[in-house]
Amino acid sequence: MRYQRTLKKPVELKGLGLHTGKEIHVRILPAPEETGIIFVRTDLSGMTLPALVDHVSPDRSILSTTLGEGRLTVQTVEHLMSAANGLYLDNLRVELDGPELPILDGSAYPYTVLFREAGIVDQSRRQFFYTVSKVVEFSEGDKWIRVEPSYHLSVSYRIAFGDRLTQERVFVLTKKEFEREIAQAKTFCFLSDVEKMREMGLVKGGSLENALVIGDDGVINPEYQTYPDEFVRHKILDFLGDIRLLDRPLIGAFAVLKGGHAFHTRFLSFLIEENLLVRVDAPIPAPSSWSPLACPIPIG
Ligand SMILES: [Zn+2]
Repeated sequence: MRYQRTLKKPVELKGLGLHTGKEIHVRILPAPEETGIIFVRTDLSGMTLPALVDHVSPDRSILSTTLGEGRLTVQTVEHLMSAANGLYLDNLRVELDGPELPILDGSAYPYTVLFREAGIVDQSRRQFFYTVSKVVEFSEGDKWIRVEPSYHLSVSYRIAFGDRLTQERVFVLTKKEFEREIAQAKTFCFLSDVEKMREMGLVKGGSLENALVIGDDGVINPEYQTYPDEFVRHKILDFLGDIRLLDRPLIGAFAVLKGGHAFHTRFLSFLIEENLLVRVDAPIPAPSSWSPLACPIPIG
């Protein structure tokens, strides 16, 4: 079993929102047991949004995960949520003075560094977890996901963008592995899509420092690349953030093919609507001989 966890002290950061291009100030504060992760818009009289999939705005969660409706939105929550999932943080109050979390360096690393600096403490209540009650498959078009009940969290992820880019990776969650293998993976985009996104008024805060940009001859800003298979690692990072939009952490053996934010969160809503989640008291570490589920579908 493990206890619920929060930060020892508040941390602060500021930076540009990826989509709005506005500078946003963020304070992340310790929160009491059973709070979960909540977002507080200080510029909207302290209106509050819990980080739960019921509050995801699916139409606005294509390039990033957006919570809320109308004026009360919090966009691009996934990298902070991923850092919280990866470092087993359960209760946080996240105050921000605008509609979007800053993109920072395009990864979850700045959050993990701040959380480590602040310190993480066990609280007095035990945490429980969700896993699935049976093997579940879910698909939409060429996107596919499968999850098996498990007492630990593993992800086998495969991405395929036609003949432009194919990568796959298996990841088994521990705090150490998250920080070493996943947290630093930056977001990415194709050069050919950048103009289109700009014309749509998106990615105003995007730059070569916070996204790997893939051109015809490969990454055009390799000086910012940490891993050769950084793109699939970032997809795992996003996935870990998106599946943390429950009131407790979700564990299981996942295989994902060509996922994205909207697909990840619709899958999570499906698990709730179909009553497929069961409560377990404690995750157990994967045995060293255990091999995670592989993606059985060939790349299309
Ligand atoms: Zn991302």
